[in-house]
Amino acid sequence: MEKFKITKVKNNIFKIEEMLYKEHANLYLFISDNFYLLVDSGTGFWNLKEKIYKTFGNNTILLINTHGHYDHIGGNKQFSFSAIHENDLKSLTNPTKENTVSFKFSKSDMLTNNNESIKSLKSAPNMILHGGEKIAVGKFIFKILHTPGHSPGSISLYDEKNKTLVSGDMLYNGKLYYNLPKSDKFQYIESLKSTKKMKVQTLLAGHNEIILGEENIQKLMNKAIFELEEH
Ligand SMILES: [Zn+2]
Ligand SMILES: [Zn+2]
Repeated sequence: MEKFKITKVKNNIFKIEEMLYKEHANLYLFISDNFYLLVDSGTGFWNLKEKIYKTFGNNTILLINTHGHYDHIGGNKQFSFSAIHENDLKSLTNPTKENTVSFKFSKSDMLTNNNESIKSLKSAPNMILHGGEKIAVGKFIFKILHTPGHSPGSISLYDEKNKTLVSGDMLYNGKLYYNLPKSDKFQYIESLKSTKKMKVQTLLAGHNEIILGEENIQKLMNKAIFELEEH
C-alpha cells in the first residue's frame, strides 16, 4: 500500500496525503532552492521527512502548523524547525487525549494506546506565531493570518499576489468542526467573514479537494458562514 500520495498542484507546490484513513489532512509542500516550506505534518504515523527527502532531495524544511490538532501536528517531531500560533502552543508542549490520534481511533486497533500517542505528540516548536508574520518561499510571499474558531490558534497562509490561501481546517469542502473542546463558533464566523474579503483563486484546503476559481471559493465561504450561523 502506498503510504503517502503526492500530487503536484502547480510548479513547486505539492499536496501530500497520508493514506491512513479517509478523512486525512492535506499537507502542502512549497519548494524553493534554499528550503522547503511544509504546512502541517500529518499524524506522524509514517516517516514523512524521509518521504520528502526521497522524493524532492534533501534540503532544510521549515514546518508551519495551521493548528494543533493530531492530524496536523503528529509528525512534528520529525522536523527540526517548526512554528505554531501561540494559542495552540499547548497542544504541542502539553498534549492531551483530545488532540491525539487515539481520540479519533479510540475503537480501532491501530492506535489505541492513549499514553503512547500523547507522548509522541509532545514537541517544542522553535517559533511562536502571533499573526502578521511573512514568509517568502520561491515566488510566494505568505502572510500568516490568525483565523481562530476551529481552534484558538488556527492560522491561514495567504499570498496576495498569487491569490493563494492555505486554509487549514477553517475552510474545506466538507463538514466543518466548530464544536470541538476548544472551538469558538463566533470567532470562527468572524474568521470566515474576514477571509471572504480577500481575493482567493487557489484554495489549498486542510481536507478534501483543492478548490480553484474565485467564484467556487466564494461559494464555499458563503456556505460555511451560513452553516455556522444556522447552528
Ligand atoms: Zn484536520
Ligand atoms: Zn482541526
